[in-house]
Amino acid sequence: MSRKHLEEVGVRVPMLPTTTVGSFPKPPELLAARAKARRGELSQKALDEQARAATAFWITKQEEIGIDILVDGEQYRGDMVAYFAEHFKGFKEGGLVRSYGNRYYHKPIIVSEVRWPGPITVEWWKYAQGLTSKPVKGMLTGPYTIMDWSFNEHYPNRRAVAMAIARELRKEVEALIKAGCKVIQIDEPALSVRPEELQVAIDSMRAVTEGLPAYFLTHVCYGAFEFIYPNMLKMPVENFDLEMSNSELDLLKLFSKAPFTKDISFGVFDVHTHKVDAPEVIKRRIKKALDFIKPEQIWVDPDCGLKTRTVQEAVDQLTSMQAAVNEVRKSL
Ligand SMILES: [Zn+2]
Repeated sequence: MSRKHLEEVGVRVPMLPTTTVGSFPKPPELLAARAKARRGELSQKALDEQARAATAFWITKQEEIGIDILVDGEQYRGDMVAYFAEHFKGFKEGGLVRSYGNRYYHKPIIVSEVRWPGPITVEWWKYAQGLTSKPVKGMLTGPYTIMDWSFNEHYPNRRAVAMAIARELRKEVEALIKAGCKVIQIDEPALSVRPEELQVAIDSMRAVTEGLPAYFLTHVCYGAFEFIYPNMLKMPVENFDLEMSNSELDLLKLFSKAPFTKDISFGVFDVHTHKVDAPEVIKRRIKKALDFIKPEQIWVDPDCGLKTRTVQEAVDQLTSMQAAVNEVRKSL
């Protein structure tokens, strides 16, 4: 079903298409440039130039490795929520807080009505897509997660915040589609944190995607899926991108209770380790996935974004992943 829809929007991929979750490590020279820009020693224009060079590097690398559905690598952004909060009207920067292990970010504060300022990611997407004939995913952060990772001083409740962000985020999605983007990932890493708010996440995602001609995915980090599965399948996206491997694939047990009805971007290696899993190890995980899910539903990718790896680690891990997929494809 979803594969058919992919073809309808104009995307043809082989069985077990490979992709990545979104972020790639920034090369050392770009990190240095970002630090300089923060100190006011480098212009935004010069920084963007460096980010474009790093984007081109990653597009080339993904093509060399043989990845099917590419990403721009998010070389131009820092934190996934702060980035959108900096661009949308209605937010102001808050103090530095710690969340999710070692993640520090300036928790944004919503102080007035949230408004889309005009295209945020579209020029970056166009640039990346212009470098390759393979599809490049549009990459956004979902309304529920932007709400959950911000302070609210304006709206009456959390649902109202999520719905307001959704209404404005939809305009970014429409702009991406207008630019030619066909595969759009709207990340909701916060989805599994508060099971009682699942409906808010579903309703706000619906407000973003409903009726729009693209293939939608969402990435959700590992969490308390036992409380939201199978209800989370009501999320109005066609593909769930899930961290499967850092839990030794224990989510598969849930899928044996209620079948997984969507496409899945199946995380085949843990991204929080320097270790590169051999193709054999990754092959075993893909085969395990095939015991529970039909091959035409499965995409293959890392568990999460790769931005905490070194450039070489990320390249080695993806090379191993692609080798594993190539092998498994032969046996299908
Ligand atoms: Zn994740």
